[in-house]
Amino acid sequence: MNQYLHLVASTTSALWPSGGGRWMYAPGATELAVERLSVKDQYETPAQLWRYAIDAFSLDRDAHASSLNAVLPAYSTREDTAVRAGARYWLNPAYGGHCVTIAASLAAHVWVDGCAVVALLPALLHTDWWHDYVMRADRIFYLREKVKFTNPFMEEVASDYMFSFVLVVWEPQPCVVESPWQPLSLPRAGPSDPGQLLRVRRCGACGKYCVLPRYQSEPDHPFVCAALGDPRFASCEAPCSVWLSDG
Ligand SMILES: [Zn+2]
Repeated sequence: MNQYLHLVASTTSALWPSGGGRWMYAPGATELAVERLSVKDQYETPAQLWRYAIDAFSLDRDAHASSLNAVLPAYSTREDTAVRAGARYWLNPAYGGHCVTIAASLAAHVWVDGCAVVALLPALLHTDWWHDYVMRADRIFYLREKVKFTNPFMEEVASDYMFSFVLVVWEPQPCVVESPWQPLSLPRAGPSDPGQLLRVRRCGACGKYCVLPRYQSEPDHPFVCAALGDPRFASCEAPCSVWLSDG
């Protein structure tokens, strides 16, 4: 990008380097179309993903873009967020530091004003937006490859993004077919749950110490070796289990 700016500056006096990688421009200069960009918003989706989505689902508008990274000629910017009725959106939302802005991006586009949306999203199954939107989508593609984002203002990123990704398709109305994928919500086992504890018991017959298996309910008192759930150890003659760390 810096090299490009140097090339432009070589053809006009309206743009010049001010040192330290910063650039100055003459406000109102007619030969420049200046767009201020937030560097952290310029991470770009790999081309194979948006190219596939646009072709397969006839998308016609990029929901979150700048003139630099738009993947369709029609796009909305950070400032221009008004939804276009009936648009078929490509949506690669800004994730923010902790993916906290995804819910708002989905709420602004999915099932709004007759729009269709295809979005690239991290597979975060514990989030509310996953269950509110992704679980009710028309199609979900689970990407076999991880995703690497690049940014023309930054050095090339060495590694793929940490999460797995899905490509999710919403048609303009909520899907009415019941999904074969169901949410599951279970109360957390508490710290005193027997299945979460190392329970040591002493045999009332032989005096040996034993650890109760996690699956074993609390034995009637007094404990005896014969009550152990694992038949290999369920006698006073059996060896005593010990576990040693190799670290
Ligand atoms: Zn015993």
